[in-house]
Amino acid sequence: MSIEVKDVLKVYGKQKALNKVNFAIQSGEIVGFLGPNGAGKSTMMKILTTYISQNEGTVKVNGYDTLTNPLEVKTSIGYLPEHNPLYLDLFVKEYLNFHASIHKVSEERISEVVDMVGLTPEKGKKINQLSKGYRQRVGLAAALLHDPEVLILDEPTTGLDPNQLMEIRGLIQEIGKTKTVLLSTHIMQEVEAMCDRVIIINKGEIVADKTLEELLENQEQIIEVEFDLRIEKQLINQIVHIKKADNIFDNTWHLVFETKEDMRSKIFDFAKENGLKTLQVQIKSNNLESLFQSLTN
Ligand code: ADP
Repeated sequence: MSIEVKDVLKVYGKQKALNKVNFAIQSGEIVGFLGPNGAGKSTMMKILTTYISQNEGTVKVNGYDTLTNPLEVKTSIGYLPEHNPLYLDLFVKEYLNFHASIHKVSEERISEVVDMVGLTPEKGKKINQLSKGYRQRVGLAAALLHDPEVLILDEPTTGLDPNQLMEIRGLIQEIGKTKTVLLSTHIMQEVEAMCDRVIIINKGEIVADKTLEELLENQEQIIEVEFDLRIEKQLINQIVHIKKADNIFDNTWHLVFETKEDMRSKIFDFAKENGLKTLQVQIKSNNLESLFQSLTN
């Protein structure tokens, strides 16, 4: 087991930030730690990385207890904090050398990691000259230098533009092939894009712990579609996977499908086959988002 959290309680003053939290993560899993702002994600991550300690309960990383063996825990973990505190005036190489010296890591390993995270073309620049996406790569490189078994990433894609987002997600998945990854996020799609499993936390308590497969089973998809002409419900009910169809106004329909497949292209095909045009097709929600909302409202 890579991470074991048992009955963890953390209070700030009178507020319970974590209330009897339990979960375990196996070696090699990529797990999303999902919850709205203030749910307790950062607090849990800070405890895992030994930055703060819990009031009650036990936490083990790679078999080492965070309270009794913090050094071994630190060696086992690479941590990318939410507001990655990079020293903007340093050159990429200087910054990584600084981190490497803490962990007594060789020059060769620095180059290897720079290459691994795709930093090679930017390695001669100062950190303040880098885009947010490349700064995240620098943070990831620093977290990976000592070749930890477990990576803890706090909101690793916050503030990235769509291209950077895709790149960093791809990189995390690549890293996840050889390491255990726990990443926090408040966005359900992040979990869908990267994780094997999700642990949902709300107000300091774990409210769901499921594999992505379990989450995607029996998925519902709600689509709103506007056709150019009036049509009969009978006809709409012929679209594959349809569970419910409501004519909400004029030629606009609210459709519920029982499938994880994106039904938009099937709706386009249906319209074409029946001599209709689609003026608007919009996914309103899917099961994952509504599940997240109902668990964390
Ligand atoms: P998340 O990372 O999910 O947004 P946090 O773990 O940062 O949530 O916070 C959980 C709760 O604990 C919040 O209500 C937050 O205000 C509170 N909290 C976090 N850090 C402190 C602190 N140092 N002192 C007092 N309260 C805190």
